[in-house]
Amino acid sequence: MTDRIFNFSAGPCTLPLPALEKAKEEFINFRGTGMSIIEHSHRGKAYDAVHLTAIASLREALSVPEEFDILLLHGGATMQFVMVPMNFHKKGMVMEYVNTGAWAKKAIAEGKRYPDEHRVIWTNEEEKFTRMPKASEIKPGSDAAFVHFCSNETIGGIELQEFPDCGNVPVIMDMSSHILSRPLPWDKLSMVYAGTQKNLGPAGMAVVIIRKSMIAAANADLPAFLSYGTHQKENSLYNTPPVFTIYMMKLTLDWVKEMGGVAGMSALADQRSGIIYRTIDQSDGWYRCPVNKECRSRMNVVWRLPSEDLEKKFIAEATAAGFDGLKGHRSVGGCRASMYNAMPVAGAEGLAQFMLDFKKKNG
Ligand SMILES: *Cc1c(COP(=O)(O)O)cnc(C)c1O
Repeated sequence: MTDRIFNFSAGPCTLPLPALEKAKEEFINFRGTGMSIIEHSHRGKAYDAVHLTAIASLREALSVPEEFDILLLHGGATMQFVMVPMNFHKKGMVMEYVNTGAWAKKAIAEGKRYPDEHRVIWTNEEEKFTRMPKASEIKPGSDAAFVHFCSNETIGGIELQEFPDCGNVPVIMDMSSHILSRPLPWDKLSMVYAGTQKNLGPAGMAVVIIRKSMIAAANADLPAFLSYGTHQKENSLYNTPPVFTIYMMKLTLDWVKEMGGVAGMSALADQRSGIIYRTIDQSDGWYRCPVNKECRSRMNVVWRLPSEDLEKKFIAEATAAGFDGLKGHRSVGGCRASMYNAMPVAGAEGLAQFMLDFKKKNG
């Protein structure tokens, strides 16, 4: 398909072409059933198979151990900002948050609704969120209910490299923008969540991978829909799930498997982000990446040009050349290339060449 452009948007993002093509092929008549998957009952056989394989494929892709359940929940990652403190705040204990930037702050804002039960234990705000904490910098208090991280700051362009070992204190991570791009150290984690529209599929849902023991210890006196226990009991079929999102996630996971699983995704992420970071580093400071080198995100590459006028020109000309979505987030400006799992290496190569040509003409 030659009419598809390179979509560098931070989300919703580019999806694997084979997944889109498969969806197109079976959209009107799903596997001979005479109707579309989005017309099927979520209690029927056809959808049930999709639901179960989507969960099983995710478990396989990320090697999720038995002690964890996988939940598919409405409301995106933002709903998890709300559900985490609701389910896990405890009188006499403190929810600990790590402040790494814009998305961490959104989670913290929901924790603040419990004034005596939250604290920020690490922040890099004074350095404008240009790095992630080292594992040794994270020391949970003896009264910690959990420690919450955002492990890839989509806007700031930084990615956690070292997973801290917090002992008995549960570690909860928002991995929305880099889940499925690397293997995960499950022994150091109690809960991982991610909005689906970056590396997993279309929007409308969050994947929650959570220790069974966390759910067992969660607050019980909650509205049913907002309790992890409810969704665990019903295998994420308490009410009508976002059927199309789950179906597309399943097709995306089929593609991931074909491409070598999470190890294959990690190698591709290294390759793509390496191409752009090298182009920045070899530009004699004309392109400049504002974040600490060790913490550079492999998914969201951010950079500046010598002036805001040049940035505007760069983005406009890049868009016209078929490199879409390169404008940095409005809160920070600059440029950003979000290169999630399905971004072809050719997209990074094309963008790098465009950057070289642009510098030659304007530098
Ligand atoms: C995109 C994003 C979110 C928000 O996800 P929604 O599904 O829109 O709620 C949260 N955290 C991070 C790190 C993100 O990149």
